[in-house]
Amino acid sequence: MDFFTELSRLIIAMFFGWFFTRIPLVILPRISIRSLDLVDHPNPPEINESLILQILRIRRAYWASIPFGLIPLVLGIIMLNQSPSSVGFGLIVGSSWVILSRIVPFDLDPMFRFPYSMNLIHELNRIRVESFPCCSSSNPFWALDSVRCSSCHHILLDYPRPDLGRSRIDGWLWGSLRVMILDGHSLSESNMPTNAEEE
Ligand SMILES: [Zn+2]
Repeated sequence: MDFFTELSRLIIAMFFGWFFTRIPLVILPRISIRSLDLVDHPNPPEINESLILQILRIRRAYWASIPFGLIPLVLGIIMLNQSPSSVGFGLIVGSSWVILSRIVPFDLDPMFRFPYSMNLIHELNRIRVESFPCCSSSNPFWALDSVRCSSCHHILLDYPRPDLGRSRIDGWLWGSLRVMILDGHSLSESNMPTNAEEE
């Protein structure tokens, strides 16, 4: 029985450390005082200045996980210093897992190395200011799987849309849980050459 009590303490503490460290990404972009002019959640947003400002905001929230995660980490270290404690160990494992996932790059491509990378922001800004290769007039928008031309749906940037910090249609609880589990990533994969339009 003692073993199971310790094990459940460990698991709860790990979950808490994990949860606490991922909270900024869910909370911070959604509680800003000056909300930006973006279309509501499931609709694809246009590539404009508000969107780029919003991504800069989320990028800050994403990296805020590291200072946030230091709280359960230090708490866990203090607890382990006092006495062997499964709670302290769980806090250390849960928070350092998220901190490590922030530090270790996902991909060699600089744009995919981290979610909300500066390269992605530069690319979006380039699409915003430059003229388009396909149509003379277009309002590029970010569909689930890529940035596309509004006139001919030509793919301008093959990058699945991550969470953009808008209030989600799937509700506060499920929406937040989903963002936490996916850590801001998109569920859709990068584009296949022949992708059916599902708007
Ligand atoms: Zn076009």
